Amino acid sequence: MTLKISQFIADKNPATPCLIVDLDVVKQNYLTLKSSLPQAKIYYAVKANPAAPIITTLEKLGSYFDVASLGEVKSCISLGISANRLSFGNTIKPIHAIRESYKLGIRLFAFDSAEELEKIAIYAPGSKVYCRIMVVNDGADWPLSRKFGTTAEQAIHLLIDAQEKGLKPAGISFHVGSQQKTVKAYQHAITLAANIFKTLQNRNITLDFLNLGGGFPANYSDEVPSTEDFGKTISTTMKELFPKEPPHLFIEPGRSVVGNSGVVRSEVILVSQRDETGKNPRWVYLDIGRFGGLAETEGEAIRYRFETPYDNLTTGLVPCVLAGPTCDSADVMYEKNPVMLPPELKSGDKIIILATGAYVASYCSTGFNGFAPLNEYYL
Ligand SMILES: *Cc1c(COP(=O)(O)O)cnc(C)c1O
Repeated sequence: MTLKISQFIADKNPATPCLIVDLDVVKQNYLTLKSSLPQAKIYYAVKANPAAPIITTLEKLGSYFDVASLGEVKSCISLGISANRLSFGNTIKPIHAIRESYKLGIRLFAFDSAEELEKIAIYAPGSKVYCRIMVVNDGADWPLSRKFGTTAEQAIHLLIDAQEKGLKPAGISFHVGSQQKTVKAYQHAITLAANIFKTLQNRNITLDFLNLGGGFPANYSDEVPSTEDFGKTISTTMKELFPKEPPHLFIEPGRSVVGNSGVVRSEVILVSQRDETGKNPRWVYLDIGRFGGLAETEGEAIRYRFETPYDNLTTGLVPCVLAGPTCDSADVMYEKNPVMLPPELKSGDKIIILATGAYVASYCSTGFNGFAPLNEYYL
């Protein structure tokens, strides 16, 4: 937790649950990405955290934006971002979203199927298009495979088609899976993409850019390679595979820009030990759970770290099942792999859930079970 956030909590004692984000950290993360991959254009993936203060902070630093819906297009434009800084990266778009965003000036669209390409040709004529390919997502805690992307063979075919339909075939994209913990994932994916570039070159189509997507990890419970490590491997791979005239490079980081910038402050609602023998695990219920924004605990995929008032006192930690406040038995965050927490923890205590700046506030349900969405503070 940054000094700014701990001072805010001490001064304001904000009601729980709430998300508190330090915008200086967002700025620092952006600058670290920029210096690790100076040749890349950064398209911040808005869905990771679409809050206006984050968009505005990044815009001032020169960021571009990856948007996934007409709603995200409109909110960026209403914040003064010009349409030519936006890339419509979702390969699954309603027709009206293509038409309306084209009217608003968007000219860069992703696709991964013949039908989507056809829709773009009709409703966004003459636009630049890029094809998303399927790549292996091994090493990612939150994979994005299967639902998106096409084969290399199909991508070549579709990009040739794009030109015939009056569109501008502009690039290839992929996503190695979110919270990707191996740098090699990018190497493999870039190799696959480079072959497509070569084949198309032989057909007299020169693509302008390679879009590496997101995936760069945030710091949760596991050690992850640094942004610099990712930058080095990507740059080396690009030099090897594109020895002359490399394409422009785009990245679409979400999690790595905002993940560690925020914390959730939550209250312990109940600690329950159902029997004295200790055979049944201790259950800790918080005022935030899977429906309150911690949706990425599904499958216990993303493992957050916790700070409690007893971290300096306790001699031993006890395994606890961690659950949310709603009357839904799916609202359990960690059970297979319990969380180690101090035995002193009790109802009314405030705890801090670290690195919750990405994929929390926007995942929060609109009021399931009467629990209001969490408050957000951007400092
Ligand atoms: C979600 C998403 C991203 C961001 O991914 P992170 O793993 O958060 O960096 C980037 N590009 C696309 C197309 C996405 O859907």
